[in-house]
Amino acid sequence: MRLKPESAAASRALAELQVLAPQSPFVIAASQRIDSPGENKVFNTERYRASVVALESTWMGGIEEGADVVWLEKIMRRLVAANDLPQRVPFRVKLGKAMMINCFAAPHGDIYVTRGFLQYLKKNWPKVELNENNAYMAGVMAHEMVHVIRNHVVNRESFRMAVSQAGAEMSPEQLRLTTRMSEIEADREGLLYVLAAGYNPNALVEWMEKAAADIGDPPPAEDHPTFDERVSYPMDFWTNEVRFAWQAFDAGTEALAQASKLETNDLVAARKAYDAAINELDRYTRYFRQSKEAWNNLAIAQAKIGVLAHADKSPLGKWYTPLSVEQKVAQQLPKVERKKRGEKTDVVFLERAKESLARALELDGKYHRALINLAAVQTGLRDFDGARASLVKAKEAGADKVLVAMLGGIVLAEQGNWAEAVSAFVDAAKESDDHPRALYCLALALQHKGDKDKAKEAYAAFLAKENKGSPWAAVAQAQVSMLLGTP
Ligand SMILES: [Zn+2]
Repeated sequence: MRLKPESAAASRALAELQVLAPQSPFVIAASQRIDSPGENKVFNTERYRASVVALESTWMGGIEEGADVVWLEKIMRRLVAANDLPQRVPFRVKLGKAMMINCFAAPHGDIYVTRGFLQYLKKNWPKVELNENNAYMAGVMAHEMVHVIRNHVVNRESFRMAVSQAGAEMSPEQLRLTTRMSEIEADREGLLYVLAAGYNPNALVEWMEKAAADIGDPPPAEDHPTFDERVSYPMDFWTNEVRFAWQAFDAGTEALAQASKLETNDLVAARKAYDAAINELDRYTRYFRQSKEAWNNLAIAQAKIGVLAHADKSPLGKWYTPLSVEQKVAQQLPKVERKKRGEKTDVVFLERAKESLARALELDGKYHRALINLAAVQTGLRDFDGARASLVKAKEAGADKVLVAMLGGIVLAEQGNWAEAVSAFVDAAKESDDHPRALYCLALALQHKGDKDKAKEAYAAFLAKENKGSPWAAVAQAQVSMLLGTP
């Protein structure tokens, strides 16, 4: 169905799509097409400005400055940052002196809170401090911010009519009226905003229940959902979708830990656990895009599946990095399991891991775990220039020195610079107490260089520190026996 981009139906459809497929180019293009409130022609008209002035001086009883505005702004900034809300909306909080209980959004991005509203919060939840951690205020503010982001007010027909008619000023109602669907959408998305910002989402629902009891439903003529509808809708959403997604972070991280343990003794089970971790973390990141840890964990699971597919040919099957799977172990995985997703499984999954890491790094460019993992994934893809660049950034970001030196050595070794690789591994091994991995890489590089005695020594040093049950220990042991057997 083709929708006019500015229609309310299109705005709703877009909101749904943004939840379901935030990366889709269509969604990104359509989101950008929505008018920027900062540049909106209507907001720059004399009439609109006059309406805002009238609203502030009469309805709001004048605007307050002072300490309460400071914490209200902190809540707003926390919601904006946690949800990566578009920069095109210049959000501001304004505290009105009026004693009526009200909180609403003007379409250009100002959120109005009344003194009466703050008193209402204090009266109903006396133990909950009025400060930046107030989840009730955060819930209501998030709801209002959704109205602005989704252009609910601007899309409303009565607002357009008022704007197009010359003459009389717009009434406050025309500034704030929203439709039934907009309310449900604002509740639903507002819930996601507060969750992402670390507020208790139940506060929003609790507030609506309270408001329903105190204020009663809007008169039937208004196109608002009843409070009963508003309470049950986000509750359903919370129970059926969001809670499921919210819990997926823990479930995914748990599956990842499980998979890593299973890697040594049951590769089929490990592979299933990595698949489960991908499913869970994928679901989580679809709703909550702001967790760099979730993207990083997702990338680890994706990289492991990629390496498992072709460990025999991968640099990550040969060298002992945190993302590696020892190649002889990986080959024990039944072929059918490995090739399940076709010949290019390794490349496909390593590319996906790269994308996930890019998301983590968009959120924090100095997230050194992601930079190290990116360097390892790029090594797996034989993009050695890319890996080198990532390692430079990782080092600057303060990443583990052993891992930086070791991955640098692997890149050198893969390009045949054995002498330089050995010296990088020596550097890495010198600093490594808890990373016997560097010793394994050193031994392997020395062996390739033809330095058998030193290789034996390095393997012995590795075996003294490595967990006995590790597949890398078994390979090192076999190499030592082999080296001892040859003069
Ligand atoms: Zn609303």
